[in-house]
Amino acid sequence: MLSATVKADCFCFIPSMEKTEPDLLESLPALGKLRQLHPEYIRRAETAQIIVRQFCREVLAPRVLEIDRKCSEDPAYFDWELWRKANQAKLNISPIPQKLGGLGWSALDNAVLVEELTSVCLASASNITFNTFGLLGALVECRTDVILKIIRLMTEAQEAERPLFWSWAITEPEAGTDMEEAAAMARMRPSTRAEKVTGGYRLNGTKCFITNGSLAHYVIANIPMDPDQPLTSMATFLIPTNTEGFKVGRVERKCGQKASQTAELFFKDVFVPEENLWEPPGRGLHHTREILSITRGYIGLAALGLARGALETCIRYASQKKTAHGFLIQEDWVRFAVADMLKDLMTVRNQCYNFALALDTYHVWSMFERLPIKLALKILPRKWLLSEALLSLARNPIISRAGGWYKKSLVSDVMVEKFVKYGSAAKVAGTDLAVRVTARVLDIVGLEGLANEHGLEKYFRDAKVTQIYEGTNQVNRLDIFNHEIGEQIQDWRGS
Ligand SMILES: Cc1cc2nc3c(=O)[nH]c(=O)nc-3n(C[C@H](O)[C@H](O)[C@H](O)COP(=O)(O)OP(=O)(O)OC[C@H]3O[C@@H](n4cnc5c(N)ncnc54)[C@H](O)[C@@H]3O)c2cc1C
Repeated sequence: MLSATVKADCFCFIPSMEKTEPDLLESLPALGKLRQLHPEYIRRAETAQIIVRQFCREVLAPRVLEIDRKCSEDPAYFDWELWRKANQAKLNISPIPQKLGGLGWSALDNAVLVEELTSVCLASASNITFNTFGLLGALVECRTDVILKIIRLMTEAQEAERPLFWSWAITEPEAGTDMEEAAAMARMRPSTRAEKVTGGYRLNGTKCFITNGSLAHYVIANIPMDPDQPLTSMATFLIPTNTEGFKVGRVERKCGQKASQTAELFFKDVFVPEENLWEPPGRGLHHTREILSITRGYIGLAALGLARGALETCIRYASQKKTAHGFLIQEDWVRFAVADMLKDLMTVRNQCYNFALALDTYHVWSMFERLPIKLALKILPRKWLLSEALLSLARNPIISRAGGWYKKSLVSDVMVEKFVKYGSAAKVAGTDLAVRVTARVLDIVGLEGLANEHGLEKYFRDAKVTQIYEGTNQVNRLDIFNHEIGEQIQDWRGS
């Protein structure tokens, strides 16, 4: 006989927010080998799990439904108290090395952070982790001065408890998917335009559905120099939002991920100086692809966390819900459904964590493990690393570009495209799983699941959104096909 209630510590490979001990190795036993080789690496990820779960239990979980309700009434509502607590815990600057003021969390640690937060609330997870976009943008750009400047901005803001938000703006009213793929970009006609003027660039046009757009202090935007030749003229700019001519439009009312604001952005003769040109004309798409090569996999992880949270909620409900024969969880059809979902979660968990481990091994995160950077972080005092003197030195064009060359020697363009493929696969697998699981748990729970207080209908609404952003799942599938099969088709045609 099954017991009437299910306690968190009897879940074996469903990690749970309720657990106070780490269970990373239980759900991913292959990590045991890695623990033998690099005990510190795994120990840190386990510590991350404990820290984030405590945050979820004590801070996040008690308020998520209330936030969702408030955002349904007012899409511009923002829970500043939640932001303050996440900022105090440094969860919003987690990848920055400890020596510089962050938590020094690896891609694996950040995978844990994302999965744990999204198991409670996708939108709040976005509000907390999206902030590292500034750092991510800088890391893929990898100009020494840009990285130092952004780390300084982020750590100073964190210490002063001053909000600092970043946005990444590629989507336009007439161009969503088209901004993420070469053939589509070559054909599209964007509304935005950049013009070269003395000392910098003048920007015009509209971006839409931009996460954090209404809160952002900086926007990283892709804008073409020639809208008739978007692919060959697309450039990447860093735009401080206090610049004259920048305006925020409507904050969207969405079906899900409500607490994460998405907004329209207007640029009217916005001037940005030369130094804020991050990627020159023709390299903008590459910047996008490099960001996507990291973020798509994390959307897979976010959706995995969401699916897990929904399933956990459903199991708890079904183990307490009385039926004519005992408890709902004892019905055979429910057991089969739950077993199916557990099996799928396990498969996607392996895939997504494999992606995170690969990021630590081959992508920008691996830079933190390289001798020159490790040595600099070990020997040089923090004050000096973030000093104005070092920043001025880093602005020297040769030193500034040296970071980019160094990164390119570690993460080539070919590697970036491989990660787009792995990331797309993780994104499609995770987000399709989330939609399947959140729909199926509603089948199990029935009418009560549609009431807001169980949180299940929120998981369902949130899951749908994940299939659309970071490239729709259809377009992610095309990326997988084109990388694996596309070139072979050309070979076959040619032979
Ligand atoms: C919550 C949320 C947050 C977002 N945050 C951001 C953000 O921070 N920054 C940002 O820039 N954007 C953001 N977006 C926008 C998001 O990236 C786009 O919605 C997404 O890229 C899809 O673009 P679209 O909606 O214009 O769809 P479209 O590109 O118009 O696609 C419509 C349909 O056509 C299909 N399709 C399109 N092109 C092709 C093709 N070449 N081949 C086959 N099928 C195709 C698509 O799969 C889809 O089914 C966000 C969106 C949401 C919902």
